Amino acid sequence: MGIGEIRGDEQTAALLDTELWQLSDAQLIEAIPAVTAQIHRLQALRVSLVGETDHRRVVPDPAHPALKHWLANTPAGMLSVSEASRIVSLARLLREQPDLAAAYESGGLRADLAVLIGAFCETPPKNMPEGIVPEIRKRLIDEVSHGTGDAAALRKSITDLRDAFAQIPPAEDTDRNEFYASQTLTGRVVIKGDVDSETGEMLLTALSKLSAPVPGPGGEPDPRPAALRRADAVTEMLRRFHDCGAGPVEGGEKPHLTVLVNINDLHHCDGDGDGDGEGGCECGCGGGEAGQGGKGEAAGHSSGSGGSRNGHGPGSGSGSAGGLGPLMMWTGPLSRASTRRLACDCIITPIIINDDGVPLKLGRKDRLVPASLRRALIVRDRCCAFPGCGRPAAWTDAHHIIHWADGGETDLSNTVLLCRNHHRLIHHSEWEVFIGPDLLPWFRPPRSRDPDRKPLPAHGRTAA
Ligand SMILES: [Zn+2]
Ligand SMILES: [Zn+2]
Repeated sequence: MGIGEIRGDEQTAALLDTELWQLSDAQLIEAIPAVTAQIHRLQALRVSLVGETDHRRVVPDPAHPALKHWLANTPAGMLSVSEASRIVSLARLLREQPDLAAAYESGGLRADLAVLIGAFCETPPKNMPEGIVPEIRKRLIDEVSHGTGDAAALRKSITDLRDAFAQIPPAEDTDRNEFYASQTLTGRVVIKGDVDSETGEMLLTALSKLSAPVPGPGGEPDPRPAALRRADAVTEMLRRFHDCGAGPVEGGEKPHLTVLVNINDLHHCDGDGDGDGEGGCECGCGGGEAGQGGKGEAAGHSSGSGGSRNGHGPGSGSGSAGGLGPLMMWTGPLSRASTRRLACDCIITPIIINDDGVPLKLGRKDRLVPASLRRALIVRDRCCAFPGCGRPAAWTDAHHIIHWADGGETDLSNTVLLCRNHHRLIHHSEWEVFIGPDLLPWFRPPRSRDPDRKPLPAHGRTAA
């Protein structure tokens, strides 16, 4: 790729100084492919420059020793780390495979197709004779250069080649296994994979057992579509894995997630009558546990004025991990409502921090539901206690009726078994649960459902 070639493209350069309305239709239509070709030439030049920098092992900035990170952080930027990483990978492949580089730089081969061909030829099937790799590469380039084929066709040709040279049947070849879990801009995680038949069999067996429809209490069909049932099954598989995985046991169950959370984010801050008799934020948070090292007060009261309600109202800028709200280690922000729900049972280990982001303590011992309490809850509630639910106890969380962060006790009079759906509902809606004089859970529906909010008995119980 010559720099002169790029400088010499005066036609596209002139467009930068042109008022576009002055162009005729023909000129307009001619300009677009010309600019596209110029963009490709510039991109190819960037790849070459990155390849040369990489080859010389130049470290442009010690703060970003990996080239891809430097590339994503240059002031001209405009590249995500994954885009920068693709550029570096392509640059390395092209340096090793000059015929591929020539096809790409000439503008005849797209970058994504060059990566597919380059990656295949870099690690060809074990049984493919080394001598035929250049010939195969040329064949693949010819197949897709100048728009004669697309990525799907190329992938098929590569798969056919792998099959032809495979020692073991493709279905059983674990070397081809791939699994991606990538976070999207909305914070969700997209999962994509390709696994051998044995792994697939294990996955399908587990999914089949865990995603079976669960009929409602009156025998009505499970309303969840099949895809949602499978997704719920994956959540359940992960939960069970973390239950029996290595790591410290808390209350008979192992914590599943670590969340960085300011203590204020765990307090009940919605400001409406919460019906639990708390009478506002009596903040059991400042107390002894956080009080070590003189940082304790800052944990509970961002204003430092012990006992005040500052920092507890909605929109008051109350506690957050560095001002961002609760943060999970891998996927980032988590809503305050979900944090409270997860912190309710011992599914998460909250790392409590102060307003400066300094960790103060790890969770709170009295939030954990010990195995003995869980057994007692199973005897009392038998299943998800939500009226009309009845999902098995194994699928339930122990919900704290008054959250432990608000001073609620971890005992029978303050906990209730709820399946994940109804646990979510209780935390995220107007539904409320309380323990009645009969020592059983009762549920208060939202006003939209019953203007009088008359309490309903737990599942399988009847009103006296
Ligand atoms: Zn809860
Ligand atoms: Zn339920």
